[in-house]
Amino acid sequence: MKMSSLKKYAALLLVLLVPSLIWAEGARETETEEIQASQARYVFLFIGDGMALTQINAAEAYLKARQNTSVGVEKLAFSQFPNQGLTTTYDAGSFITDSASAGTAIATGNKTLSGVINMDTSKSIKYTTIAEMAKAAGMKVGVISSVNLDHATPACFYAKEASRNNYYNIGVQLAHSNFDYFAGGMLRLDKTPQGQKNVHEIMAEKGWLIASNREELQALRPGNRQVYAYSKGFAGNALDYAMDMKADNISLAEYTSRGIELLDNENGFFMMVEGGKIDWACHANDAAASINDTIAFDNAVKEAVDFYNRHPEETLIIVTGDHETGGLSLGFAGTKYDSAFTEIGRQKMSFEAFDHYVLKPFKQNNPTGSLAQLMPEIRKNFGIDSLSPYESELLEKAFNASMKGVGEDEESYLLYGGYEPISVTLTHILNNRAGLAWASYSHTGVPVATFALGVGGELFNGYYDNTEIFQKAATVLGLGVPVLASR
Ligand SMILES: [Zn+2]
Repeated sequence: MKMSSLKKYAALLLVLLVPSLIWAEGARETETEEIQASQARYVFLFIGDGMALTQINAAEAYLKARQNTSVGVEKLAFSQFPNQGLTTTYDAGSFITDSASAGTAIATGNKTLSGVINMDTSKSIKYTTIAEMAKAAGMKVGVISSVNLDHATPACFYAKEASRNNYYNIGVQLAHSNFDYFAGGMLRLDKTPQGQKNVHEIMAEKGWLIASNREELQALRPGNRQVYAYSKGFAGNALDYAMDMKADNISLAEYTSRGIELLDNENGFFMMVEGGKIDWACHANDAAASINDTIAFDNAVKEAVDFYNRHPEETLIIVTGDHETGGLSLGFAGTKYDSAFTEIGRQKMSFEAFDHYVLKPFKQNNPTGSLAQLMPEIRKNFGIDSLSPYESELLEKAFNASMKGVGEDEESYLLYGGYEPISVTLTHILNNRAGLAWASYSHTGVPVATFALGVGGELFNGYYDNTEIFQKAATVLGLGVPVLASR
């Protein structure tokens, strides 16, 4: 055979071979072809629940204003990450997602209906999560949240349920998971069906190490036992709002740094950390609580950044939100082009603490009390001294609604959103004075911001859907691509 025809033959052989090679590797090869990235041994996924650009920017504007210097922003640790993108959040049934469908998208790459945890829209197919894939690949896995660990976002990393409200089933799946570290808000034992073992009992039987305070958390040593570390706040199973925390409260950052120490091993780890109460603060239209929890969330990110600085060639940190909550805007009709973010600093406790520590006893002790009697507490906790006639009218009306009960009418909902009328009116007044406004007590459909630092971080630049966070993270973890799991 002559040289030229040999060349031709080789070229033909190549043409014939290439498609069959691709075919033989299946969908996995064709998908990964598009995105080439190095692999990371340690991957952190931080999710600020209800945190979009305005929640981040409000925290940054407040931090800058507090320094008493010029107008501007004091950036958070994660908003300085070199890779940044915008992420759409709509789900399979609604442009405005909830945390269950958003968590499913981020954890599995699949769109589903609001309220559904890791199942398809017909609620018959179960999806495998990125955390389960990482565990199957030999890595250690941690799931951390400032809200109860059976809440929608953390549940999306280990459970499959037709409804996020099936707390007991979700908790049982947590107990039967093979993950290494769960930390944060306590599981909802109050949802245990009559005659069944509660999830703490199931975990104890299965040999989990359970730490319910700081001493027990600090005493834990790296090993093979599964760990569940929890605490609960004064108002429920979640941790307290950051602005209400006392010295003996364990913060999201402390659970994160302990998690890093316990999970660090040569096969690597995957860790999801949720700032869950940013969302709850925004549902209640409380900017001070949202800003302080966003800063607390950033403090947890800083623990991961410290780890990254020790392992820069092997670590990826992703920070995103699952959706926006509250329709927060920087700018209010009444303040036009002005803002006064330092006003937020006048608030000394969250709406939740005000309801619990001030309003509840006030109502009990003064069932026929007046707004004037409550004013000293309002002055102390919200820094509101004098009221304009318009504010005064709003507050008087809200006080009466809090004392005598709220109607089910449209106006009552628009004014108070099902919250304590006096508390939500106080945060509205203070937030508006600062130049912040709210459009909703629910989620909104605006995109969230996504940030990345470290190995493969460049994949997170651009404008993409929340399902792609799964694909990008799975690529960097070397897990291949998203596939449907068995029925
Ligand atoms: Zn929410």
